[in-house]
Amino acid sequence: MSTIFTKIIRGEIPCHKIAESETHIAFLDINPIAEGHILVVPKQETDYIFDLPDNLLGDTMVFAKKVAAAIDKSLKPIRTGIIVEGLEVPHAHIHLVPIYREGQDVSLRNKANVSDERMKEIAKIVSKEVKQ
Ligand code: 5GP
Repeated sequence: MSTIFTKIIRGEIPCHKIAESETHIAFLDINPIAEGHILVVPKQETDYIFDLPDNLLGDTMVFAKKVAAAIDKSLKPIRTGIIVEGLEVPHAHIHLVPIYREGQDVSLRNKANVSDERMKEIAKIVSKEVKQ
């Protein structure tokens, strides 16, 4: 059975898309821990990130770097953090989390209440800054 992220990649489930290439997609996390919390996902369905082939693992990080640059430019956090957990969705992904202040709770158990309107706005302003 396809993962939820494959369904998003195929357009069967909606998302707030930030960037897409032939091999990767980035979209807003549906339960953000901070405004602008983004998931970077290789399209290849592999559960554990360290089972990805070396080239795809490297490309995933390079794709994440581009998206992080767009977050940094548009949302202006102190910096963008990275979390890899993968316990909920068995499809390798990287969480990009803007860190706006020292001491911000960056645990995946945290919850930022971001309205759907604001999610749309964030997707628009961040995606505009992604350099292809
Ligand atoms: P992990 O697998 O790294 O523990 O976390 C998976 C992440 O995927 C969670 O932060 C969760 O909010 C996010 N997520 C789960 N289902 C969906 C979905 O259907 N759409 C989006 N945009 N994010 C999702």
